[in-house]
Amino acid sequence: MLCPFCKSEIPDDAKKCKNCGEWVDPAYRKPKKNEEGFFSMLSETVLNLLWFLFITAIIAVAVILFLQANANGLFD
Ligand SMILES: [Zn+2]
Repeated sequence: MLCPFCKSEIPDDAKKCKNCGEWVDPAYRKPKKNEEGFFSMLSETVLNLLWFLFITAIIAVAVILFLQANANGLFD
């Protein structure tokens, strides 16, 4: 058969075009995209979580330093 992407002759049972590297079988193309979407979504979620923890840690340190300074009587 002909590759739908680069029109080169490939075996009829080929799942992937050896010429252009595209997945010829839609059943293989679609899950791959879903998988990429899932992982990019997952990494985005992890980044958001890390950013949230980072901000929380900074706020916690700031509050602790403020309370310690307060306890030492710097603001009296
Ligand atoms: Zn091709």
